[in-house]
Amino acid sequence: MNVDTICAVATPPGVGGIGVVRLSGPSSASIAEKMCGELPPPRYAKLVKFRDRRREVIDEGLLLYFTAPNSFTGEDVVELQAHGGTQVMNMLMRRALELGARAARPGEFSERAFLNDKLDLAQAEAIVDLVESGTEAAARAAQRSLSGEFSRRVDGVQEHLSALRVQVEAAIDFPDEEIDFLADGAVLSLLEANLGSVQELLAATRQGQILRDGIWMAIIGRPNAGKSSLLNALSGQDRAIVTEIPGTTRDVLRESIAIEGIPVHLVDTAGIRDTADPIEAEGVRRAREALLAADLVLLVVDQLGDMAEQLQLLKELPDHERVIVVFNKEDLQLADWDEAELRGRVLAPSVSISAKTGMGLQRLRKQIRNQVGATEQAEGLFSARQRHVDALRRATAHLSQGKQNLAETAALEILAEELRLAQQALSEITGDVLPDDLLGAIFASFCIGK
Ligand code: GDP
Repeated sequence: MNVDTICAVATPPGVGGIGVVRLSGPSSASIAEKMCGELPPPRYAKLVKFRDRRREVIDEGLLLYFTAPNSFTGEDVVELQAHGGTQVMNMLMRRALELGARAARPGEFSERAFLNDKLDLAQAEAIVDLVESGTEAAARAAQRSLSGEFSRRVDGVQEHLSALRVQVEAAIDFPDEEIDFLADGAVLSLLEANLGSVQELLAATRQGQILRDGIWMAIIGRPNAGKSSLLNALSGQDRAIVTEIPGTTRDVLRESIAIEGIPVHLVDTAGIRDTADPIEAEGVRRAREALLAADLVLLVVDQLGDMAEQLQLLKELPDHERVIVVFNKEDLQLADWDEAELRGRVLAPSVSISAKTGMGLQRLRKQIRNQVGATEQAEGLFSARQRHVDALRRATAHLSQGKQNLAETAALEILAEELRLAQQALSEITGDVLPDDLLGAIFASFCIGK
């Protein structure tokens, strides 16, 4: 149990209608009493005067008091709700520190909540994801994780794995039964069922991670193909400069927009082509880099130009599953190209659009979503992080390995070990088993006051 009492400004820096200083720990109540007089009953708000060491009034505001364990952190918690101003917050903090509180580290309130079993780790992370969510869909998903939906699914998979482990361990301890256990295929079908449910959870988790982190998308094509126009049309705002002079979009321009609820971080690139201009050459170099890092690449093809030549760019893209060929300027109704013939040569999916009129853009948005593997239905999605996806991948790998070993050697001991490792990977998600340094690193990424 922590003996020290921590305090932090819980509201964002700057001015606001109200600002909140939060205290958590055993001395919270006595510190608040010295600052504001008698405390209200737990969970009641009381109008008080916050006073400094000379008993001068710093501000007037509301005092809230929560007693352990019925608080966010599970400890005694006090909230001082004053006017939201930098100096007011500073003075309240200074007074709390004088009275024996310690400034909280980033994420320390959440960390205490975790250590006191108020939240598991995935839920604590969901708090951050909720406040930082970039789209409404992401916020809803984070709320579901925070309410424990994700953790419950992890726990469900864990329970099944435990049941299987019990059987495997029992068979090892009673070798006569091991023969039966192996012979009737029970172990294999149980193992496969477990592998299936971990993979299902992995797919859902990956969805949640896309909702949270978004995807990186590069837009490429020759100068004047309409890349800037497409970016503007997709973002619904004029963020890139649209110009008729070739080669002017030199920089890698990064911005985020929401496409079908998914945050998409756009990388608008200089037209990739050979050039003698050093500034433009730098743009080209960066464009290539962005291209390799992107989850998805839109190759914009200008229907006014030689399309076969523009499609040559496809050769530079290693992985056509990550590409959408966008035939732009469809509004010009250029009849002199053989669409069927050209499409036959394009192995990547393609969409015809007009960045100018908006024609085909909705189909393009859907194609983008489908191609990154995001489902249409945002309902029931929970938010998740790369860390969770990695843990589930490791669990999947251990189960697959166990299955392979079983087929090759029929040795249950090896399977038992793989099952144990799979469970360990899963328990990292909710934080049941976790290396200490990892725990510290996770909470340190939170901001102060959380
Ligand atoms: P970028 O060099 O690839 O970024 O191309 P821009 O977006 O700057 O567009 C080049 C020119 O093509 C501009 O004059 C645009 O107005 C025009 N343009 C872009 N998309 C379309 C389209 O769908 N239809 C027509 N008619 N013109 C377009």
